[in-house]
Amino acid sequence: MMVNSVLGPLAISDLGKTLMHEHVLIGFPGWFMDARQPPFKRKEAMSRVVEAFQGLHDYGVRTVVDPCPSDLGRDVEFIAEVSQASGINLICATGAYTEQMGIPFTYAAMSQDQIAESFIAEIERGVADTGIRCGIIKVATGEGKVSDYERKILAAAARAAQATGTPILSHTERSSCGHEQIDIVTGEGLDAAQLLVGHCCGADNPGYQQSLAKRGAYVGFDRFGAVLEIADEIRMRNLKAMLDGGHLERVMVSHDSVNCWMGSPGSMSEAELRAAMPSWNVTHIFENIFPELEAMGVARADLDRIVIDNPRQYFEAAKSSARQV
Ligand SMILES: [Zn+2]
Repeated sequence: MMVNSVLGPLAISDLGKTLMHEHVLIGFPGWFMDARQPPFKRKEAMSRVVEAFQGLHDYGVRTVVDPCPSDLGRDVEFIAEVSQASGINLICATGAYTEQMGIPFTYAAMSQDQIAESFIAEIERGVADTGIRCGIIKVATGEGKVSDYERKILAAAARAAQATGTPILSHTERSSCGHEQIDIVTGEGLDAAQLLVGHCCGADNPGYQQSLAKRGAYVGFDRFGAVLEIADEIRMRNLKAMLDGGHLERVMVSHDSVNCWMGSPGSMSEAELRAAMPSWNVTHIFENIFPELEAMGVARADLDRIVIDNPRQYFEAAKSSARQV
């Protein structure tokens, strides 16, 4: 069974140690509108990411999923260059961000089926004329409520997932709406195991996290190092509670790191943000979090399972449930 990487088809059995949610490059909608920002320097950005990803390689990581949807400055050729230079397999995404923070104009005017066709084209044919095919579908919901636009994107994603055997990975705001996301994709006939509900670790809410796992979805503890959101100690305590609750097979870990920004990350500058979250980088889990979890009594074999077997089974499950058309 194969998955699309940015450098071509990759055997799912060769994924190896995998981080499920890291961003090579992001530009928020209209990032180019703030003329006070320094111009984006592609070469410098490239060497910075390549260096970071080579560091990952030293920790045995072989694959990184970059779930940047097409409306957040996605540049699949940039990602492919990083893969080539760093030796890390990279998987890029089709899909869309939230209504509030993405670019809803285009898909708002399209039907659910048309959006699904567009996602399928990026998976089967590739992004524009790059020949680079997407291996995952990104969806997103806002805080506390799923908008009609987001609901349509999620339903379209479920159809594209079913047609192509591609799994879905989500963004949530403030650890809300995971159940609504599961409802929508399973309502379209998908198995909950084809959805990784992202950013579930942003609130101290083990009940919420475990209730998603009980329904069969994957649960993202995918913002390690993002301590302005919540302390890593809370993330680790809740991750341990997931394992103690019998949900080892449903946990995915990552940092949601952003290795380059085009424009600014929002109200803080990139320098301020990095100074406030110095551990928010691609190797933090292996340098700091896993050793601490081991000290808390988590077996190394369980940590290996989280970064090796869980990603593999997630991609395999999606592939094997594809409706052959
Ligand atoms: Zn992200």
